[in-house]
Amino acid sequence: MSRFWSPFVKDLVPYVPGEQPKLDNLVKLNTNENPYGPSPRVLEAIRGGVDAGLRLYPAPNADSLKSAIAGYYSVTPQQVFVGNGSDEVLAHIFHGLFQHGRPVLFPDISYSFYPVYCGLYGIEARTVELADDFTICSDDYQQPNGGIIFPNPNAPTGILLGLDKIEAILQTNTESVVVVDEAYVDFGGETAIGLVDRYPNLLVTQTLSKSRSLAGMRVGLAVGHPELIEALERIKNSFNSYPLDRLAILGAVAAFDDEEYFRTTCQAVMRSRENLSQALQALGFEVLPSAANFIFARHRERDAAGLAQGLREQRVIVRHFNAPRINQFLRITIGTEEQNQALLEALKQLI
Ligand code: PMP
Repeated sequence: MSRFWSPFVKDLVPYVPGEQPKLDNLVKLNTNENPYGPSPRVLEAIRGGVDAGLRLYPAPNADSLKSAIAGYYSVTPQQVFVGNGSDEVLAHIFHGLFQHGRPVLFPDISYSFYPVYCGLYGIEARTVELADDFTICSDDYQQPNGGIIFPNPNAPTGILLGLDKIEAILQTNTESVVVVDEAYVDFGGETAIGLVDRYPNLLVTQTLSKSRSLAGMRVGLAVGHPELIEALERIKNSFNSYPLDRLAILGAVAAFDDEEYFRTTCQAVMRSRENLSQALQALGFEVLPSAANFIFARHRERDAAGLAQGLREQRVIVRHFNAPRINQFLRITIGTEEQNQALLEALKQLI
C-alpha cells in the first residue's frame, strides 16, 4: 500500500494463480498443465518465426489464426475472437458483454477469476449453489441477471454439464449473454460451439493452455455471434492492438493443424485419469466424475490440508482450496503415468 495508489487499486482483490515453484525434480500436479508438451509441429512453426521479421508488429487481427479456428469448428472468422490466454478473453467479456445493474450469475464453486473480474469492472456477482453432488442445476439460472458464466466441465470439480442442460439455460435467458468456459472440454466433453448459430447470446471460450499444451504461450479464443465478437474487438482495440505476438500466432495455427498429436495426447490424459481415479478410490478417496485433465477428490478420513502438506514434503505439489464446501478436497492434475505413480506412492506413505 502506498499513498500513490488510487482508491480503486486499494480495493482490488486480485486472483492468486497456482504456484510455479522454481525447484527441480518436483511432481507438479497443481495448475492443470498438460504433461506431454506441445506438438513438435508447433515448436517447428515457432522456430521458423524466429528471424528478423520479429522487428515487425504482428497481424493485429491474427487473421491466420482466426481462419484456422473457424475452419476447425466450421464457423466463420467473424464468429471468432482471440486473446492473450482465455483469461484475457474472459476479462473482455466481463467488461464488454455483461450488463451492469444486474448481477452476473456463476456457480458458488467455480473458477475463482470470475469474482475478480466482477471486482475489476464493478459488476455485481451472484453465486448460484451447486447441488450436493456438486453438479450445476440449470433451473437455478432462471432469475434476473446481467450475464451467466460457468466452466464446462466445471473447475475445480471436473463435472460435465450436458448440452441439453446448457440449452435449457439459454432458452430461459435470451436477454443476457451466456458464456460457456470450455477450458477443459477436450478431455471428454462436447463443445457448445455447435449451438452458436441458434443462440445469438451464446459465447463459448476455449484455451490452448490445456489440451494443446501451450500454457506458456498464452492463447485463448471465443466463438459466438459476430455482434458479440465485435464488442470484444472494440474492447481489445481500446486496450492492446497486439495481444498475440508473431510467434504465438504461428504456434497456435500449427496446433490446430496437428489433429493427430492433439487426439493422441488428450486420449493419453483421459486414460491416465481413469487409472488414477481407480487407484485413488482404492486408497479411500471419493473421486468426483471428471471430464477434465484433473480430478477432485476427498479422502474419507484424512484431512486435505494435511495431505497436501505431506505430499509437498515428498515433492509432490497438488492444489488445495481453503474454501467453504471444498476444503476437504484435493485438486490433482493428471500427469504422466510416472508422475501419477509418484503421487500414489507418496499418498500410500501418508495414509
Ligand atoms: N477458465 C478456467 C476454468 C480455467 O481453469 C483457466 C485456467 N486457470 C482459464 C479459464 C484460463 O486459462 P488461460 O488463461 O491459460 O487460457
